Amino acid sequence: MAKRELGTRTEQYTDGDIAIKIRGLHKSFRLPTEKAFGLKQAIFNRLRGVKGYREQKVLKGIDLEIKKGEFVGIVGRNGSGKSTLLKTLAGIYYPEKGEIIVDGNLVPFIELGVGFNPELTGRENVYLNGALLGFSNEEMDKMYDEIWDFAELRDFQDQKLKNYSSGMQVRLAFSIAIRAKGDILLLDEVLAVGDAAFQQKCNDYFESLHGNQTVILVTHTMSNVRKFCDRAILIEDGKVKLDGGPKEVADAYENLWKK
Ligand code: ADP
Repeated sequence: MAKRELGTRTEQYTDGDIAIKIRGLHKSFRLPTEKAFGLKQAIFNRLRGVKGYREQKVLKGIDLEIKKGEFVGIVGRNGSGKSTLLKTLAGIYYPEKGEIIVDGNLVPFIELGVGFNPELTGRENVYLNGALLGFSNEEMDKMYDEIWDFAELRDFQDQKLKNYSSGMQVRLAFSIAIRAKGDILLLDEVLAVGDAAFQQKCNDYFESLHGNQTVILVTHTMSNVRKFCDRAILIEDGKVKLDGGPKEVADAYENLWKK
């Protein structure tokens, strides 16, 4: 079968001032439309030229450059392609066409708790997740109390993870993930869930990143765009609709619903 993914994603470390360079990035997904029952049907479909899938173009030629130390907000309606962009930057999806160059150690906070095991206790999962982020046991020992305090889940440490609510699991995963020290952080704000106090802690964390690391934050909260971002990008239908100052882009986002 012909290789569909022809784009490239490379990582390099330089002393240049660009953290992420994206050129002509395209990404589509194949959605099955017809089920082939058995080999005979599959061969028959092929001979008839029936594809059995529909191609959904999600990213349609993205060009972007993000500077080192920049805090960039990515905004846009649901389904516009923001998460797909983040996942392609993270190397979770392969670019179909175009080029991505990442300069620095990139830490994605996109699918938190991927390594969680529901049958293990919270304590065991903290060590497991930490190991996946590259921390040694000794490093985890030092961070252990901070992790539980940030997540506000101290009393649940020895319970099996399957007894946590999904919100509690995300809080724990978020609290572990923010210990990872990357040059470039990809963050999806939906992961900063919780009550007002927890939100405030997440906001303090975002604030602490400012200027120290390169941050790309997918968000629907325009007050956060105005407060934390140096720059923002409005994605619409898989393309960059607007790339500018946080206020200008936040205003444009809010105006999407006023037409
Ligand atoms: P956003 O983050 O802006 O809400 P997404 O990037 O999640 O948008 O989704 C954009 C489109 O891509 C949606 O129509 C979604 O259904 C589709 N999509 C995303 N991931 C996949 C996938 N793994 N397989 C098929 N379609 C997908």
